[in-house]
Amino acid sequence: MEKIVYYDYSAFVVLVILLLSIVLRKMTRGRRNRCFLLLVLVVMAAVIADVAAINYGKLGAGNVAGKYVAHTLYLFFHCLLPVVYFAYLITLTDTWHRVMKYPALWISCCIPMLAVTVLLITNLATGHIFYLDGQENYTRGKLFYILYVVSAIYVIIGVAYMLFYRRLFKRGKYLTLISVYPLMAVSVVIQFFFPYYIIELFANSIGVLLIFMMIQRPEDKIDTATGLSKLSAYVHDMRRMVEVEKPVKVIMVNVTNYKSLRDMLGYDATNELLLHVADDLRALNWNQHFGAELYYLGVGKFRLVAEKQHFEQVEAVANQINDMLKPDYKLNGMELNMVACVCITRYPEDINNVDALLAFGNDLDAKYFTGSVLYASEIYRPEHYNLMRDLEGIMERAFANKAFSVYYQPIYSVQEQRFNSAEALLRLHDEKYGFISPEIFIPVAERNGAIHKIGAFVLEEVCRFIASDTFRSLGIDYIEVNLSVAQCMRTNLAQEVLEILNRYHVSPSQINLEITETATSYSQNAMMENLDVLSRAGVTFSLDDFGSGYSNMRRIASLPIHIVKLDKSFISEQGNPNILIVLENTIRMIKDMNMKIVVEGVETKGLAKQFSDLQCEYIQGYYYSRPIPKDEFIQFIENAG
Ligand code: C2E
Ligand code: MG
Ligand code: MG
Repeated sequence: MEKIVYYDYSAFVVLVILLLSIVLRKMTRGRRNRCFLLLVLVVMAAVIADVAAINYGKLGAGNVAGKYVAHTLYLFFHCLLPVVYFAYLITLTDTWHRVMKYPALWISCCIPMLAVTVLLITNLATGHIFYLDGQENYTRGKLFYILYVVSAIYVIIGVAYMLFYRRLFKRGKYLTLISVYPLMAVSVVIQFFFPYYIIELFANSIGVLLIFMMIQRPEDKIDTATGLSKLSAYVHDMRRMVEVEKPVKVIMVNVTNYKSLRDMLGYDATNELLLHVADDLRALNWNQHFGAELYYLGVGKFRLVAEKQHFEQVEAVANQINDMLKPDYKLNGMELNMVACVCITRYPEDINNVDALLAFGNDLDAKYFTGSVLYASEIYRPEHYNLMRDLEGIMERAFANKAFSVYYQPIYSVQEQRFNSAEALLRLHDEKYGFISPEIFIPVAERNGAIHKIGAFVLEEVCRFIASDTFRSLGIDYIEVNLSVAQCMRTNLAQEVLEILNRYHVSPSQINLEITETATSYSQNAMMENLDVLSRAGVTFSLDDFGSGYSNMRRIASLPIHIVKLDKSFISEQGNPNILIVLENTIRMIKDMNMKIVVEGVETKGLAKQFSDLQCEYIQGYYYSRPIPKDEFIQFIENAG
């Protein structure tokens, strides 16, 4: 019976399509992609050699040299396959550094393949592996079975490796990778018993196709704008690196004014800019023989991850990037005024925890910008990131442990010359970290949704206080309670607030809710609806932190606001005579709109006097009192009265 070569042809077609996809989708960059490409090429080489060998066989006598070469190459590439696949597995697990640490180990891993190579080269003289018989037909030699043994050795090593690193893979990916082995084994057995069905390489090509679809998925890993690996790949690779204890040096490049550049340039030009920067980084990486893996994480954040490179080389490249991404960086001849922070971070020397490493990179913004390369060893504060890591847990436990408490900061009424109100400010006390600032935990609570529970807690505490007899005797008109952006956007906020007020029999006029300008620029519908319902019920509103951002007066004029709270930052810029003009006019404008003013952050007698002279109604600040616990607050008001 003649050998059926069509399986090889099919394998060839599959591999050609695969290679085309790899090239067209630019999946030739990065170590993992290159190793996969090598795997495909080895299967391809085996297929071509096999087709040649079979077709030479069909020609009958003659072509001895061609037959020898084709069969030798086929056997060589066939044996090389499990070796390259094993190398691919090492690459996927990112464990080359571990293998390389033990020369005896990897040298002994290479010996079987070297032995096969030597046997195949000397085969021409010895005929131990195969020879051409009297009719010049291919015949197996007495040592042919060594090839099976060698392949089996690599299969066993590969399976053992996969079992050992099982935890590094998700179930689906793990099963795909390991399933290649039974696929190979079954095809070898079939071909052994039915030598005319040349299905081994077809099975192998199906195996690589499966890996291509399940493991090498480019859409999972490649950012379309830049062609670099994307955030999910970075997070995955960083976590992997920690799991396999691989030290790395990361050059973090954050274009800190990315959002304003995007607003200025628009979508297409921003993508062009990103591609431009990505190309520059790629070119630098290539020209300097730096060999780093490149990532683009979105919002103007690039990463270069280097492994073996010396620190001096990393510094040199970081400095070049820093010089390249200067404010005069040009796109199509236009200077962009780019502000890029470049920071070198070593794992584990500078940061030994992957979440902290990711969070640190994320936080690297304009406030760190110096114009020079930054070093994580100098600016990273582990306490902060440890706290951030633990914060969700701390907040979860805080309710049970009664770690939250509400403090009150008295607000002085200039006209009435007494403390007529107070702001409720939340405090979180943790056993390990002590007092944690609301500026730290409120944003986290907003992200994980805990803010709603926290908001309800504060309002209930305040209402319980207002409903008490002691409160009535203090003569405090109302308490200001802060609302966060996430709370304002919640559709049933108004109902929840009114329900709590009702429950404690607190009049809506005794509560003043503080909202911020950022809240007013978000989801307008839900927010306006809430303000509307609450206003009609008699709750009043303050606009908090006025002047800390870009204030939109037209927008403010359209909101049902009674009080504007001038931000501390306004006050800290007192030295500037122009600021005084702005301040005087702002105050007049607010008053003309029939709103009252609370000045926040007043720390000195001089400032208190100055703002009273400017006709501001209320003054709040350390000059009178810091935020204090309820009992102290009661004492304070009683003493003042
Ligand atoms: P905020 O609403 O603007 O609160 C005023 C902040 O200024 C408070 O900081 C207060 O302690 C501080 N402060 C008051 N007087 C002075 C002063 O004279 N000098 C200086 N340097 N600071 C002064 P705190 O308590 O750390 O709160 C920070 C922010 O956290 C608050 O800013 C508010 O946005 C938020 N926050 C606090 N409690 C709550 C809450 O219960 N719910 C919500 N959603 N946010 C809250
Ligand atoms: Mg406030
Ligand atoms: Mg404020």
